[in-house]
Amino acid sequence: MNLLVDTTHDPALTSWVASANDPGTDFPLQNLPLGAFRRAGIDEPVRIGVAIGDQVLDLRLAAERCPWPDGITDLLPPLAAGDLNAFMALGADARRRLRAALSAALAEGSELAPFLELCLVPQAEVAMQLPCRVGDYTDFYTGIHHATTVGRLFRPDNPLLPNYKWVPIGYHGRASSIGVSGQSFRRPHGQIKRPDADAPVFAASQRLDYELELGAFVGPGNALGEPVPIDRAEEHLFGVVLLNDWSARDIQAWEYQPLGPFLSKNFATTISPWIVTPEALAPFRRPFAHPPGDPAPLPYLDSAFNRDFGAIDITLEVWLQSATMRARGLPPQRLTRANFLDAYWTLAQMIAHHTVGGCNLQSGDLLGTGTQSGPQPGQGGSLLELTAGGRQPLTLDSGETRTFLEDGDTVILRAHCEAPGARRIGFGECVGTVRG
Ligand code: MN
Repeated sequence: MNLLVDTTHDPALTSWVASANDPGTDFPLQNLPLGAFRRAGIDEPVRIGVAIGDQVLDLRLAAERCPWPDGITDLLPPLAAGDLNAFMALGADARRRLRAALSAALAEGSELAPFLELCLVPQAEVAMQLPCRVGDYTDFYTGIHHATTVGRLFRPDNPLLPNYKWVPIGYHGRASSIGVSGQSFRRPHGQIKRPDADAPVFAASQRLDYELELGAFVGPGNALGEPVPIDRAEEHLFGVVLLNDWSARDIQAWEYQPLGPFLSKNFATTISPWIVTPEALAPFRRPFAHPPGDPAPLPYLDSAFNRDFGAIDITLEVWLQSATMRARGLPPQRLTRANFLDAYWTLAQMIAHHTVGGCNLQSGDLLGTGTQSGPQPGQGGSLLELTAGGRQPLTLDSGETRTFLEDGDTVILRAHCEAPGARRIGFGECVGTVRG
């Protein structure tokens, strides 16, 4: 019995917003993700909204125009002010109360429908923004199949380093270049040393890649010097987005030792705009364990709750559309399907590990999961894996081939959760395009 599931997850619930009842929507009443937006063509401060079907519920308007019941009005000021960080800092109880109130208000038959109808904006008429201020960004490396395949390309005799099964590996990334879906960026230049050359050259990256990841936003922070124990770690989790950790493999190969990636990853990171909450993910929680024979996690990375519910069943996909495909009217094509169930460490373990030495997390910090690749050869979460380091080109529907990304390529990450007895939910899209 999954005690995290409540009446807001009932798959029979429907909304008076008709598009939320479409079986294919990412945003049914059971999801209710939060994001930030501006209405297209209007120069105005950022607003916080909730995705419902193909609409956005504008929480600024909803705070002004709707006679909310007692017990919810105290939560609305930061949301009405467009300050998601302040709401994130309030923690899980506030988030759950908001979810319960929104679920009731947007459900079929709600007495609040006549008020909230006036607070909907079509998603097609908004420009999504970064959902919050991201103070710090850390990228983990929880995809063991990615780590093994990539390790084999760099170190054929020693693919997985001995620390991998003990330490949730990560590096401190760059927050300033995180952008929201729809972002385009210039192909980075940097130092590249070809294998047969004596010295590096300064040139545009020829091995530009994507990475299929999730990003976890921190809700309440912790004080400097006060680690978060694993059985409290999820209290610090606000929600999850898709994350594309764009990577210049040729720059990376030359610079990454001894301190890890630097310019090969700091030029752009794209995230999806809607933060899917832990509550929305509750029906998709699964038991977590390391494979038989692998080391048990050290005690600070282990808890009964993490063993019972630490994994999350999230199907993850990468789609690609080249400039030629776009010009010919060809749709994006799927390159990969993987699942977050294959991650070697859980979100709670990431938070517990990040803070165990005393590091303080802050509201709005973003923790990338690392590339999520499945165990099968076609399930690589990057082109580096799918093309065996550029040696086995992919053929696209247009007849073009790819080893790494070309100018004009658009990469689309998608994700959804499905389970018996639960309403399917999705994450929307994380879209980014490479410019020349
Ligand atoms: Mn990464």
